[in-house]
Order: sequence, then structure tokens, then C-alpha cells
Amino acid sequence: MEEQIIGIMGAIPQEVEGILGVLQNKTAHSIGNRTYYQGFLGQQKVVLVYSRIGKVAASATASALLLHFRVSEIIFIGVAGGIAPHIEVGDVVVAKDLIQYDMDVSPLRPKYEIPLLNKTYFETNELRSNQVLRQIENFLSPQVLTTKIAADELRKFAIQQPKVYLGTIASGDQFFSTDQQKENLQQALPEVLCVEMEGAAVAQVCYEYNIPCSVIRTISDKANQEASFSFEFFVQKISQVYGQEIIEKLFQ
Ligand code: SAH
Repeated sequence: MEEQIIGIMGAIPQEVEGILGVLQNKTAHSIGNRTYYQGFLGQQKVVLVYSRIGKVAASATASALLLHFRVSEIIFIGVAGGIAPHIEVGDVVVAKDLIQYDMDVSPLRPKYEIPLLNKTYFETNELRSNQVLRQIENFLSPQVLTTKIAADELRKFAIQQPKVYLGTIASGDQFFSTDQQKENLQQALPEVLCVEMEGAAVAQVCYEYNIPCSVIRTISDKANQEASFSFEFFVQKISQVYGQEIIEKLFQ
């Protein structure tokens, strides 16, 4: 049987650095302005890359993973802004499905539908998502989390009892940093848990190649006025730990 290779993506360096630190026997390959790291997590062969920001960058990177590196699955791990009122910084959202909130060819087709695909929501790999959910529940339990992240760091972000949720993620080419942006999305798509800039694009590429996809997002900010400040500190201090802990445990 052909060896299975898993593609692991983030958008920014800070989302993959923690995982890069635990990747074994790594080799680096530069293609199209990206560096792809091949290596092993436990027995699993993987290719790790950060795509840069936005739907175009993420789609191009996902395509290279599929066509050049022949991955048979993609897992995206990164940060996002919380949209649903109960979502707090430090929580994790595992995508059940993803939507491109900035796709709109109405009145020709229903708003948000991807032209010619006749599809609005892209579902993720249920098996992998459930496996990840259980792992994250364990990581976020107070006994485990406090051994990975110092108590005063957790306090700085007011992270108390972080939770993991399975639900809908919205993606588009905008950083949400005003209450207005947040309210508009809440009203338009009330089921959305968090917002980011890549996931639904990767999910579309995977759908078209018939490859399983999962998207895991730690909440770095609340997609409002404080978002840029919260985001910057969160990716400096915390997101690597979440990324490494979640991904490393999957392949132990
Ligand atoms: N610091 C970067 C910009 C980061 S954009 C620079 O200076 O170039 C934010 C990244 O985190 C995107 O990859 C997006 O997927 C995710 N993200 C986190 N919070 C977000 C928010 N409030 N709105 C949209 N995307 C967000």
C-alpha cells in the first residue's frame, strides 16, 4: 500500500512553529514562496507549511500539498476571532463545516453559494474532528493546561476554563476588528462560532480533490475593537503551545 502522508497547515509562522519544533528528520523544500517541511510526527509522515494569510494564499498552498506532496489528508491548525457570544479567548473551535462569508453572486445564485459547485457549506472529516475534540478536551482540562502554560500567562488572557466546540467556521479576506463587522456576521449567519481567513478555502480545495480536511482554531481574540491587540499577544505567547500539543498528541 502507498504510504499515507498528512498535510498540516497554518497561516502564519506562529501557528506552525510549535509543531516544527517536534517534527523529526525534517527536510525543507521551497516552492512558490512557501517552505514545506517534510518529516515525521511519531510514525506518521507529514508535510508542514504555513500558507500566509487569506483565501488565495491558503488555496494555493493546499493545492501544492495535494499535487506536489501527494498528501491524502489536510489538517489546518490556527487562530481565529470568536463570533458567537459564548466563545472566549483560549477556547478551541473544531470545524464541523465551513462557509465563505464573502462569496456573493446573488441574485444569480443564493448568497454564499460557490458558483458551479452549488455548495455553501464544506463539511470536515468527521472521524478526525471527533478524535481531535477528545484530545483537546484533555489538553484543556485544568490538570493538563496549567502544566503547559504558566498560570500568569493564562491570567493575562483571562483564560479560566477554556472549552472546545464543534461547529461552523466562517472564512473571508478580512481581519475582524470592529463590533460592526462582528454584529453583521452574527446577524447574517447566526450559527457561526468564529471567523478566520483561510479555512473554508482549504475545505473547498479538499472537497474538489475528494480529500478529507479538518480545521482547528484556537480563539485569539473576540473579533472586535480589542482584536488586534489580543491577537498579537496571543500568537506570541500561546498559540504555539496549543498547536504543538494538539497535533503532537494525534500521532503519538
Ligand atoms: N499579523 C499579521 C496579520 C494576521 S491576520 C500581519 O501583520 O501580517 C489574522 C490571522 O489570524 C489570519 O490568518 C486569520 O485566519 C486569523 N484570525 C485571527 N483573528 C481573526 C479575526 N479577528 N478576523 C479574521 N481573522 C482572524
